Amino acid sequence: MEKRSGKKIFNGIAIGKIQFYKKKENLVERTKVTDVEAEINRYEKAKEEAMEQLNALYEKALVEVGESSAEIFNVHAMMLDDDDYNESVRNMITTQNVNAEYATAMTGDSFSEIFANMDDEYFKARAIDIKDITNRVVTILCGNSESEQLDDEPVIIVADDLAPSETVQMDKSKLLAFVTKLGSANSHTAILARTMGIPALVGVEISEEWDGKTGVVDGYEGVFVVDPEAEVLAEYVKKKASDDEQKELLQTLKGKENVTKSGKKIHLYANIGNPGDLVSVLENDAGGIGLFRSEFLYLESDHYPTEEEQFQAYKKVVETMGGKKVIIRTLDIGADKQIGYFDLDKEENPALGYRAIRICLTRPEIFKTQLRALFRASAYGSLAIMYPMIISVDEVRQIKEISMAVKEELKDEGFKIGEVEEGIMIETPAAALISDELAKEVDFFSIGTNDLTQYTLAIDRQNAKLDPFYNSHHPAILRFIQMVTDNAHKAGIWAGICGELGADITLTETFLKMGVDELSVSPGCILSIRKKIRETE
Ligand code: PEP
Ligand code: MG
Repeated sequence: MEKRSGKKIFNGIAIGKIQFYKKKENLVERTKVTDVEAEINRYEKAKEEAMEQLNALYEKALVEVGESSAEIFNVHAMMLDDDDYNESVRNMITTQNVNAEYATAMTGDSFSEIFANMDDEYFKARAIDIKDITNRVVTILCGNSESEQLDDEPVIIVADDLAPSETVQMDKSKLLAFVTKLGSANSHTAILARTMGIPALVGVEISEEWDGKTGVVDGYEGVFVVDPEAEVLAEYVKKKASDDEQKELLQTLKGKENVTKSGKKIHLYANIGNPGDLVSVLENDAGGIGLFRSEFLYLESDHYPTEEEQFQAYKKVVETMGGKKVIIRTLDIGADKQIGYFDLDKEENPALGYRAIRICLTRPEIFKTQLRALFRASAYGSLAIMYPMIISVDEVRQIKEISMAVKEELKDEGFKIGEVEEGIMIETPAAALISDELAKEVDFFSIGTNDLTQYTLAIDRQNAKLDPFYNSHHPAILRFIQMVTDNAHKAGIWAGICGELGADITLTETFLKMGVDELSVSPGCILSIRKKIRETE
């Protein structure tokens, strides 16, 4: 028996046969060609075929995992069409008289290395996409078939890394779980695993010798067990049975109200970071979206997303939610979320630095573009806007001035605008302490306990070493939540919680007693909190 730990991507328990997934290696040799023109033509034809494959993959993914996850294949098509990339392949063939396979493989290596060495996490992650498109073209040129087929029985896939195209091509009915050595929690493959709702771990030290053995993936604990001893296996079989039972039981709570035995109600909304997450929002019967982290639009783009691009994304979310409330938070980058094209300076203390609303208020052109897209999308459903990292009344007044001007501008241009609630996140101690003043300015509060805890306890939320000191139940935080909720109610507005603490069921009763009006949590937590609420007196 071997036991390994990894980073949790999606919860659940999977037990089954391990299939070690090996990428088809293309053995590329350097050969000399005499007819350079013919070799360039071979490359162009292979590229064309790769483009067709990518289009087919896009269509398949669109049906199976939705538009936002499918988008990666459009990105691949764009990368493959990149002038510099194509120029480099043609140049190598022409100047070095080498075969197309070799020129493509070399170009792919050097381009992916450039990306891998970039500081920006988004661009770093694109190195694997370059490798993926290169491999696609080289495979065609070598006359090989694509990736390995899955076994007939359902399997746990163990791999060094999985490219999004490989994940999408797998037959979902035969997939029990993913375990990979590489890949981050934000890689496209991780996002796909979440969308498909199968247990997944990344960052696991893997071995090819596990192929064919029995494996257990515990997506709750981040543990992978290979060849479990009889008692361990029996324990996991029990855990899986109770997990399945629990999930089934929770399904019976769909369509039920979030109401305590004495009749107290609370709204239960979902936190999302991507329109792809909408599938699980609907599956878990969320009453609305309490926090849509709009950063994804900027993080997944290599340019400032245009008004139209943003409008389409927001419109899709509000339309999908069919009249249920969708609270979209305006851009919150800086600190741990860096984007190359924003060209932000390196800072000594990024968490206390130039982030979120501070960027929006000093670069109003970015802010206005987002607000225009949001107000335009408001005509298609129930959209609310929430502003992050507020510390003062003055900031809120500046925001209101800009938002008012944007609305007027849109009306003058003939756009229809819906009723839009505008609220703020309470995630700094300053905002909590002056929440009586702030409550007079806005329509709602949403308490961001992740940052509120970081700033109140002076504990960097990114620093794992400080985990033992990170007491999310610290009385200072609980007092703040009570204070903010009371101040909201005194001013006649509502207050919710959208930080991780909102999903802590040991506090659900406390929040109900405090009078918190809404909890916004990961979609997968909705039904268990509903269960807790319905069991509360
Ligand atoms: C928070 O700070 O609690 C929050 C919800 O925002 P984020 O985690 O995106 O900073
Ligand atoms: Mg925050």
